[in-house]
Amino acid sequence: MVEDTQLVSDTRERDEISALLASGLETEVFPRADTHEAVQEIVARLRTVDGDLKAKLVIAGFTDHPIEHGGIEQPCETCMYYLVHRKYCELPELACSVEPEWSCRLWRI
Ligand code: SF4
Repeated sequence: MVEDTQLVSDTRERDEISALLASGLETEVFPRADTHEAVQEIVARLRTVDGDLKAKLVIAGFTDHPIEHGGIEQPCETCMYYLVHRKYCELPELACSVEPEWSCRLWRI
């Protein structure tokens, strides 16, 4: 039952994010977080948004498609924070449902 509830809530959140991205929400896709300092700066900003989903997507530079950077495709499905079975981003400052083909600038392999 707990798993069912989580599944419903994950799906609802994924739909909400999908709708926001499809509506043309402009997010900070670039610059990508290539350095430790850049990651720290973005993560620090994410810690200030306090549950504001739209702000999280903007700051993290979400897209509903993979971004190629430095010759590498950066979809969620190849990111170290992606939980395959739950389709979920476990980076604590994001902690949200994602689709495998989405991307953000905190992508890490
Ligand atoms: S940190 Fe990784 S799994 Fe999370 S949204 Fe960004 S690219 Fe996707």
